[in-house]
This record gives sequence, structure tokens and C-alpha cells, in this order.
Amino acid sequence: MILIGMCSAEEGKLLNKGVFPKFTLTQPTVPEGTTKWVVRGTPGLHWSCELKRVPNTGGHKHAGGPTGKLSPKSGTIPSSGVVTGIKHKTPAVAGDIELKYKIGTTSGSVYSRAMIAGLVELPVTSAIERVGITKTHPQSHYGTQAMTAAIVSLAEKYYKKFSKPLGVNDISLIWGGLFDHKATWAAPHATHRMGVDADIRTKDMALSTGHCNAWLSFSAGVMKSNVCRGR
Ligand SMILES: [Zn+2]
Repeated sequence: MILIGMCSAEEGKLLNKGVFPKFTLTQPTVPEGTTKWVVRGTPGLHWSCELKRVPNTGGHKHAGGPTGKLSPKSGTIPSSGVVTGIKHKTPAVAGDIELKYKIGTTSGSVYSRAMIAGLVELPVTSAIERVGITKTHPQSHYGTQAMTAAIVSLAEKYYKKFSKPLGVNDISLIWGGLFDHKATWAAPHATHRMGVDADIRTKDMALSTGHCNAWLSFSAGVMKSNVCRGR
């Protein structure tokens, strides 16, 4: 009997698809965005893929967390040697998600990175007191350039008038996305995802009913604010 074997260094690969550089195996998207992947391998091989959240990414220093949804997750390589249409919908929480794949006996990992790019940290000045930094979310004062500049300007005016710093509670996490300030991977903090919402401490301001929270939003060049009581 003659056995003819096909031998190659790799049986298969999970590859990026789209406009992102093909050589990188981390594909960027936004939270609740989609990355597209292609499986390439020897026809007839079984392939499968599982999702795993990379710990401590996206500004979340706590265990667990959502991975999003992958579809399809497994199949058989067709005669063309290519499986297209594999989509990973990333979760609302920012972070790196590992796609651990197995194609025949070959295994490896690629990554989807869900983040809001371009957020900057609120500077530390004598006019600003950053409130709400916790062990689970140590990087909680990131906003858009326009938002952080607006807060700095507001704080300077406040400091000049009252000789005390403006207390600024959470803005957004370093990579934006759902800000689960109770470390539950869920709301509250339905907003605070895009770096354009901040909680301004008002309990030491001259408002009569004790603890109040002001909601400040800067959008399209306009600052909007709203005070809500009893939170
Ligand atoms: Zn978190």
C-alpha cells in the first residue's frame, strides 16, 4: 500500500479580514462592534474557536467579564480551504478578547480589541479633585480632549470663585465602553461610555438637600448639565 501524505508546517490559521493590516493578529473595534475573521486550512479539517477575556484590560482590574458573541464557532474546512463570514461581536465592556482557535491539530490565538480610541486622562491640578478611583477601576477619569478641556476650564472658574477644588467623579475608563463602577460587568452608569459624561460632586456646594449629583455632558461643542437628587 502506498500512502501519500500531505505535509505542511501549519494545518490552518485564523486570519484577520478587512481593512486592518493583515500582519497584525489583533483587530481593533469599538465596544459592541464587530471584527471579522477567516479560517484558512486544509480542506476537511475540523475547526473550532472559543472566546476568552484577557484579564485586566480596558481599565477593568477584576475577574471574569463578558466576551461577546462569535458566530459560527466551529465547522469543517470546505474544498476551497477558506471559511469566511466569521464574526465576533464584542461586548459593551471594552477590553481585549482572545479567540483561541483549533484547526486540525494546530492551535493558536488571535485577538479582538474593543476600545474607544483617543481618550485622554483628566489632568491633576489644584483646581480638580478626582473622586471615585477604586482598585477595580483605577483609571476612571478619561474623556475626549474637548470634555477634559471643558472640565479643566470649569474647575478653574470654580476654584477662583470658591477657593476649593471641583470634585470630579467618574468620567470614562481608559478605553471607554460600559463603566461598571460596581465591578459587576453591568450598569449602573448607563452613560460614561464615550468620554463625554462626568459626575461633578455637588454635596459640598450650597445645595440644600445634601447629596446631589450633577451630570455634565459635552457634545458638539455644547456643555449640558443636569442635577439629579437622591442618588
Ligand atoms: Zn469593570
